[in-house]
Amino acid sequence: MEAYKIQQHKYDVIVVGAGGAGLRATFGLAEKGLKAACITKVFPTRSHTVAAQGGVAAALGNMGEDDWRFHFYDTIKGSDWLGDQDAIEYMCREAIPAIYELEHYGVPFSRTDDGRIYQRPFGGMTTHYGKGTAQRTCAAADRTGHAILHTLYQQALAHDATFFIEYFVIDLIFDEEGVCRGVLALDMNEGTLHFFRGQAVVLATGGYGRAYFSATSAHTCTGDGGGMVLRSGLALQDMEFVQFHPTGIYGAGVLITEGVRGEGGYLTNSKGERFMERYAPSAKDLASRDVVSRAITLEVREGRGVGEQKDHVHLNLMHLGAEVIHERLPGIAESARIFAGVDVTKEPIPVLPTVHYNMGGIPTNYHGEVVQKKGDDVDSVIPGLFAIGEAACVSVHGANRLGSNSLLDLVVFGRAVAHRCAELIKPGSSQKDLPASVLDKALSRFDALRNANGSTPTAQIRMDMQRTMQKDAAVFRTGETLQEGSKKIGDVYDSFKDVKVSDRSMVWNSDLIETLELSNLLPQAVATMQSAEQRHESRGAHAREDFPDRDDHEWMKHTLVKVDDNGKSSFDFRPVHMYTLTKDVEVVPPKKRVY
Ligand SMILES: Cc1cc2nc3c(=O)[nH]c(=O)nc-3n(C[C@H](O)[C@H](O)[C@H](O)COP(=O)(O)OP(=O)(O)OC[C@H]3O[C@@H](n4cnc5c(N)ncnc54)[C@H](O)[C@@H]3O)c2cc1C
Repeated sequence: MEAYKIQQHKYDVIVVGAGGAGLRATFGLAEKGLKAACITKVFPTRSHTVAAQGGVAAALGNMGEDDWRFHFYDTIKGSDWLGDQDAIEYMCREAIPAIYELEHYGVPFSRTDDGRIYQRPFGGMTTHYGKGTAQRTCAAADRTGHAILHTLYQQALAHDATFFIEYFVIDLIFDEEGVCRGVLALDMNEGTLHFFRGQAVVLATGGYGRAYFSATSAHTCTGDGGGMVLRSGLALQDMEFVQFHPTGIYGAGVLITEGVRGEGGYLTNSKGERFMERYAPSAKDLASRDVVSRAITLEVREGRGVGEQKDHVHLNLMHLGAEVIHERLPGIAESARIFAGVDVTKEPIPVLPTVHYNMGGIPTNYHGEVVQKKGDDVDSVIPGLFAIGEAACVSVHGANRLGSNSLLDLVVFGRAVAHRCAELIKPGSSQKDLPASVLDKALSRFDALRNANGSTPTAQIRMDMQRTMQKDAAVFRTGETLQEGSKKIGDVYDSFKDVKVSDRSMVWNSDLIETLELSNLLPQAVATMQSAEQRHESRGAHAREDFPDRDDHEWMKHTLVKVDDNGKSSFDFRPVHMYTLTKDVEVVPPKKRVY
């Protein structure tokens, strides 16, 4: 192995990722007087959060009656009763102060006539426990993520946080007692290796949408944090639950926000029917995403799709009028023009369900501490390791996330991690010396990948993975396709042993970086497919045609999955938290989920 020179840095806390979650944590830590370093592979304001359109949920009640308890109920129902009710209580209650904080930090929210934050309706968001429609989603036109991300970055700079930009984190570093002590990272501008030491590491690395062929997420969404966690021998949670957004632009995969339907847009099939009326008589186009995605898939399957191939449907917003579109949905009009060649004031947008969000991820408690199952119903905290944002699974979204609850998850749990670290960590405490050998495993894996000289190019293996996931872990699943998919994804995993890295330079844009990313995506693709195969029920985004019903008796539990070096999954389970943190709300017992 090449003798790599490694530079060492010491901080109180190392945050990996500068999306909404990572930035909210970073500046919260700095604000609390902790020395924080934020490491990011892309420039902070290019993180995928920048693309979030529709908005962020909080029961502010600016547009009519609302209550965080209604939000709590909606989130549990949306999760199809797989979400942990203690964490959901925490998120929905804290939503209100967290959004006002964002407003005070400078997020340019759209306004009502009397100057309050504008809120729009979103799927699954109701008042009075399902009876009315809530207007709960706070928006900055259709560029909410952009507004939040820029504000948070400015706040992080204003406080004394240090950024390491275009550094790629390769692996977590644990000491022999299993305490997380830092990360090994690659400076992609200089091509040098760095060991970042910290009293804690916070993973905020985002989702792994790029395991699929067609996804609304950025090409950088390669689930690097989840890959590192699996390699450390720890379990991920609920990986079978992948959200398909009902309205990706046909052919391009680019997202058209649910906010379009929130503002009054609706779907039609080839007969011009508003088919959602049949699938969700009361919520119609604003039913939750899993329900709408399945409805579109069924319409297409039954021959009522539009277009030459009859393989997609139409999203109509012409009736909203140019003025509303221009004021509330300017970005959508632009995306539709560029990616579908459509003038939304005159024609419908061709759309199709597209992979959008990972409900599963690194298991944590509501403080953001990474947990693993110890005994029946007992979790143990992994010392020194935290996870937040889409990379984590708290679990507030359970089997299906409601639109506008992710941006909320980022700010609420980004903030929670800062609070927790401030409780646990004394600024500037000395960090014991570690033997150089702590880096051995991470370095030798890096070196082996860098010099991989097999016969299959990285891009080929990635394409095989993406096509397999797209075909066999789709909106609808059956035992047969999942079995076939498990075998195929296993073969793809094996083919990585024969990977050929053609460009070994340690700088960004090289084949080496893409290979490191692929090495993180692959075990999560395996975990997703095999977790889906073993869950014999339909719940939220996981729809099995051979087990069409939800089975609370057998399956109201979280899946914990580990993937070994040979790509073999092993499973365990933990109960859903059916308790709340306070007496202010009551546990919502499972019932049939209709919209
Ligand atoms: C098109 C689109 C629209 C959306 N709209 C909405 C919406 O309106 N409302 C809503 O609630 N949700 C929305 N979502 C979902 C939501 O935006 C995401 O779940 C959320 O932004 C994820 O934020 P994050 O901070 O967890 O990660 P990201 O924003 O994805 O950031 C990940 C960060 O990790 C860094 N990173 C990753 N790997 C490494 C590594 N190996 N080394 C160093 N750094 C690394 C990256 O550089 C980046 O800074 C949308 C998602 C998409 C794709």
